[in-house]
Amino acid sequence: MNASPFPTDTTAAYDVIIAGCGPTGAMLAAELRLHRARVLVLEQETEPASPVRIVSLHVRTLELMAMRGLLERLLAHGRQRPAAGLFAAIPAPAPDLDSAHAYLLGLPQPVVVDLLEAHAADLGAEVRHGAAVTGLEQDEAGVSVALDSGERLRSRYLVGCDGARSTVRRLLGVAFPGEPARTETLMGEMRLDAAPEAIAAAMAALRQTPHGVRLRPFGEGVYSVVVPAAGVSDRAAPPTIEDFRERLRAVTGTDFGAHSARWMSRFGDATRLAEQYRIGRVLLAGDAAHVHPPLGGQGLNLGVQDACNLGWKLAAQVRGWAPAALLDTYAAERRPVAADVLDNTRAQAALSADEAGARAMRRLLTELIGFDAVNRHLTAKIAAIDLRYDFGEGPDLLGRRLGDLDVGGGRLYDLLRRGRGLLLDRTGKLGTGGWADRVDHVADPDAALAAPGVLLRPDGHVAWIGDDQAALDERLARWFGAPAR
Ligand SMILES: Cc1cc2nc3c(=O)[nH]c(=O)nc-3n(C[C@H](O)[C@H](O)[C@H](O)COP(=O)(O)OP(=O)(O)OC[C@H]3O[C@@H](n4cnc5c(N)ncnc54)[C@H](O)[C@@H]3O)c2cc1C
Repeated sequence: MNASPFPTDTTAAYDVIIAGCGPTGAMLAAELRLHRARVLVLEQETEPASPVRIVSLHVRTLELMAMRGLLERLLAHGRQRPAAGLFAAIPAPAPDLDSAHAYLLGLPQPVVVDLLEAHAADLGAEVRHGAAVTGLEQDEAGVSVALDSGERLRSRYLVGCDGARSTVRRLLGVAFPGEPARTETLMGEMRLDAAPEAIAAAMAALRQTPHGVRLRPFGEGVYSVVVPAAGVSDRAAPPTIEDFRERLRAVTGTDFGAHSARWMSRFGDATRLAEQYRIGRVLLAGDAAHVHPPLGGQGLNLGVQDACNLGWKLAAQVRGWAPAALLDTYAAERRPVAADVLDNTRAQAALSADEAGARAMRRLLTELIGFDAVNRHLTAKIAAIDLRYDFGEGPDLLGRRLGDLDVGGGRLYDLLRRGRGLLLDRTGKLGTGGWADRVDHVADPDAALAAPGVLLRPDGHVAWIGDDQAALDERLARWFGAPAR
């Protein structure tokens, strides 16, 4: 029942090799394992290497985490705050977002990565640290992946989740057009020996002029330090403590006695989108497919959401039940979403510039955000909950996500734990027939649904609405392939 146009290499040791165990790669591995695909994740770093920065998880990511039973563990490590002032940091109250998880969760990126990696490993994914992908060759049956050790591995598919400087993207020759970085920022956590009062006074004085320096105390003399770099270096290597001292002196007149950094990194404001997300048996996801400045804190969220869109489709492909065009819906659905995020970060950057036109635009937008509908629209954009995939003609709900409803005596998201499709049926007359091995069926006359029947994809998006079994069967075949006999 393999609908793939490619013959399959049945001798391949793995169904899918994932390059990179950041948030995207780890999430993708777990999603694939829900369907028992044989997965190997190759991570070049020996130690967990994600930058120690605090990241924000937005509403849609929190919903996806709830769907996979991971939210409680994340909540235990993070700090919740209202989803307020997300767009260009323009002060605004948190709007009503129609979600059981309508807040923001801040936590260190390595905590997210460790948790997702542990989840993937618990589900049976193999994760190898200290193994970098250096080459790839694909043929019609599979992909040969070369490692820095000289070893070669064979898999049926390869996904590059290897970040902004993706080796996989480069090896594929996929173009990464957009705007290069124009500014660069140094960010790190280090000891400052200057007296706390002196630091506070310097910061208060600096607040009067835009300078881009931020010092945030973590206690015991340790500070988070953000300072603009002298220029754009195009270096992958982290900055040194001397780079920080020099830049602090140049901008503020003192280096505050900076030393003993816990970590240091640099990031630019490059904005780029991969021209293709798939070439044959090799795909791209996360920062490997799109980069943008961290305005609104959206990159990790976008990558995790890519993984939840791709995971079940690629699993369907390797399990042999994918309809012919299913895998290509990944790029068709996710590339426009990334393009939209890139655009909203461009708009936020333009609004944050220190020149008269930008300041006027910001004042105007500050007025507009006072209207609840505008505030809600912009917040929902960053929170990624207003997304509607184009599934063709149909009611407004078609292609959208469903919130965590009360269904079948429990919560909807608990019913999506296994990453399968789900038919919610208020009529008691619908069925999943030959798709029952891929799609669960919950009949509940009291379900808080605005429709008699709703078919959900494994990523929680509405694939069909109605009460007609023949129409439902057509949609089941479209998303879940041919029925079992
Ligand atoms: C200052 C700052 C703040 C941010 N704040 C937020 C925020 O609040 N919210 C948010 O959503 N996002 C935020 N981001 C963005 C977020 O950190 C990234 O979007 C996210 O890390 C992307 O995840 P990824 O898994 O796609 O890539 P990465 O995290 O880059 O992971 C890629 C992995 O691949 C590995 N790798 C690379 N090459 C190879 C190879 N050849 N072989 C094997 N392994 C390889 C790397 O070692 C790495 O572990 C922020 C970014 C910055 C710079």
